[in-house]
Amino acid sequence: MAQTSQVVVIGGGIGGLTAAAALHQRGLQVTVLERARTLDPVGAGISLAPNALRALDVIGLGDEIRDLAAWQGDGGLRTPGGRWLSRANAEAVAERFGDPLVLLHRATLINSLAAQLPPDAVRTAATATLADPGDADRPARVRTPEGEWEADLVVAADGIHSGVRRTLFPEHPGPVYSGFTTWRVVIPVPGAEPASHETWGRGRIWGTQPLKDGRVYAYAAALAPAGERAPDDEKAELVRLFGDWHDPIPAVLAAARPEDVLRHDVHHIADPLPAFHRGRVALLGDAAHAMPPTLGQGGNQAIEDAIVLAHHCDDLAAYTAARLLRTTAVARHAVRVARLNLTGNRTIMAVRDTLIAALSKAGPALLLRSFDGVVDWRPPQPPYAAGKDPGRQRSEEHAP
Ligand SMILES: Cc1cc2nc3c(=O)[nH]c(=O)nc-3n(C[C@H](O)[C@H](O)[C@H](O)COP(=O)(O)OP(=O)(O)OC[C@H]3O[C@@H](n4cnc5c(N)ncnc54)[C@H](O)[C@@H]3O)c2cc1C
Repeated sequence: MAQTSQVVVIGGGIGGLTAAAALHQRGLQVTVLERARTLDPVGAGISLAPNALRALDVIGLGDEIRDLAAWQGDGGLRTPGGRWLSRANAEAVAERFGDPLVLLHRATLINSLAAQLPPDAVRTAATATLADPGDADRPARVRTPEGEWEADLVVAADGIHSGVRRTLFPEHPGPVYSGFTTWRVVIPVPGAEPASHETWGRGRIWGTQPLKDGRVYAYAAALAPAGERAPDDEKAELVRLFGDWHDPIPAVLAAARPEDVLRHDVHHIADPLPAFHRGRVALLGDAAHAMPPTLGQGGNQAIEDAIVLAHHCDDLAAYTAARLLRTTAVARHAVRVARLNLTGNRTIMAVRDTLIAALSKAGPALLLRSFDGVVDWRPPQPPYAAGKDPGRQRSEEHAP
């Protein structure tokens, strides 16, 4: 006989766990089905912007994450030779948006989210498929190797290659290759903590960002054919591509262990889905609107989705209405930024770099304007609806 849970969440990533925590707080019985044997995410950092911090405030987790994370945004943009195109400071972000941009290890975020749930709410090694999306008169059904679940609501948070999306929208073309590949690695600090920076070369990006626990998160991206892999190892590939870039990049690379370097090709959903729901199933996060990481918003948008879904869990059409246009706009913005930041065209690079340097001279506000409409989002439910804004209050109290 099928087991019954009011809510079944498929996927225990950032989006699925945030939705589970938010729906649990609304008093619903939630079961998370995760395909992997553990909830451990990839060994990488994640940057959270004021929009996600405010969303996390709704479930009482915002301040915990602010405490565990490093403020991001000090440093700025450089060229491979080391010239500064722009200098940034974290306080300017907090001042403009009422909260900082923060960076933490993905495992820290996942652990904090999972701790919001009752111990038996998460089932690992539970690969799930949607057997029936249900409708107003019958529950949805989800199948796992251990048996079936019936639910009033199914949250499909099964990531970019979502099987639920394919079942609900078989005519949708799915994700496309974004034209570039990425590397990520978390390493102990090589000597003194390196200053944070992002550096743009021709069709290549490198970023170095300190985590609060003393380690460093380094990431890189480069134009590459889909599926290409280094003939030896990915650390060697990074040394070939970035080894002669400015300090601290060679030192950071020297401290990285080859086995810790992650490489992932980037895909995104270019054609928006017609809706984020069908029957009793709501899609969220990468399953609904995977985007390139160039704005650092994929996870942030998954968190927004989760909080809005919990608000509209009795009216999935309202959830789609609240999220489809917003996430489509953010995803398109991320694609445009990827094209510009990773351009291989020298003329476009020269114009871009000159413009950034000029805008930067005029002060941080002009450059930060490009985040307007993205990171200034506020959730629909209290405490914001009541006019309280703990994000702003905190940034005023704790500016470094
Ligand atoms: C290089 C890179 C850097 C990035 N940096 C940032 C950043 O700084 N900030 C940011 O906001 N975003 C960033 N992102 C994007 C972010 O990682 C994603 O948008 C986010 O992880 C999406 O969360 P999700 O929960 O929707 O999906 P996922 O994290 O992919 O989670 C999906 C989960 O579902 C599980 N699953 C899949 N199928 C099934 C099934 N059939 N049954 C059960 N479980 C299943 C998977 O095992 C997985 O645990 C980055 C992405 C990349 C590639």
